[in-house]
Amino acid sequence: MAKCELCGRELQGLAYRIRLEGAELIVCPACARGKTIVGTINFSRTQPPRQIKTAPKPKKPVEVEQTIVENYGDIIRNAREKMGLTRDMLAAMVGEKESIIRRIEAGQLEPTIELARKLEKVLKIKLVEEIIDYEMESGDLKNYDITLGDIAEFKD
Ligand SMILES: [Zn+2]
Repeated sequence: MAKCELCGRELQGLAYRIRLEGAELIVCPACARGKTIVGTINFSRTQPPRQIKTAPKPKKPVEVEQTIVENYGDIIRNAREKMGLTRDMLAAMVGEKESIIRRIEAGQLEPTIELARKLEKVLKIKLVEEIIDYEMESGDLKNYDITLGDIAEFKD
């Protein structure tokens, strides 16, 4: 173990090469202060830098629920008629059977999100609604707490 050539302290970590009265000495940082430093030496044991792995905090997933608008049948039929398309033509454009389109327009069959997206594109309409569920903060929940006392009061 190297020692400071001025104070004799064990050198750990960063040491300094200083020039003092024509001689080069290896000294500790305290002794190097105010001296002519010609270089540094790292005496720390050569360890691979420790990787501090901090697991990323899992973010609470915000759920996005996709739903088809309620009056999808009317919207699709109106848009189709406005564009002068027959059900057959529309069916071909979205890769479905005419019978499927007929049932969807009649409100008997809710299109899948995938099909609704295709219909949106072709007919330039909006069929898919995105409902975003935000996680409630625990603080908010407190406001809705009903204690047993409250319930007893309501009973009377
Ligand atoms: Zn020293």
